Amino acid sequence: MIYFLLDPVAGNLKIGFTKKLADRMTNIQTANANRLELLGCIAGSKATEERLHQRFEVHHYRGEWFRAARPLVEYVRKVAHTEKKFPALVSFDQLVEIEPALIPLYESALAYHDSVDEFFCANDVWYGTTTPGGLKGWLERLVGWDARNKNLRTEEAYDLAYDVIYDALPNCQKCGCL
Ligand SMILES: [Zn+2]
Repeated sequence: MIYFLLDPVAGNLKIGFTKKLADRMTNIQTANANRLELLGCIAGSKATEERLHQRFEVHHYRGEWFRAARPLVEYVRKVAHTEKKFPALVSFDQLVEIEPALIPLYESALAYHDSVDEFFCANDVWYGTTTPGGLKGWLERLVGWDARNKNLRTEEAYDLAYDVIYDALPNCQKCGCL
């Protein structure tokens, strides 16, 4: 799983991968002078961690630590299971608990980061304008009014999953969208 750990004194946020969260937290806390706060976790592999590091490279501080900049904190708030800090919000992680098939979809969106070179169109991949049945069609089978699981037939679930997954795609490059 991927965890997001905040050092509120230094204003830094660590994005890390672990299989044993409790042990990992103890080790990191021992090595750190400031009291750390676990903001949340999401499902994911070592590859997910690397892609998140790339994605937030602009805020990179050192090692696995990033500046707790607003876009990064907002991202964590949106994707991670953050019951304690943001009790009113449904998180992507909670949607995944209900519909685990959202993970392969999320991973597919992230995987486009590996194949982007000169040209990339996020909207083409999303709407499937040239490649049939884009990621949006896939999403609509899992959340929203046509979801196979009736607990996910809400606008809130749809908007959240839409945001997180679209956002996981690389930005458009030289496609003329913008
Ligand atoms: Zn585009």
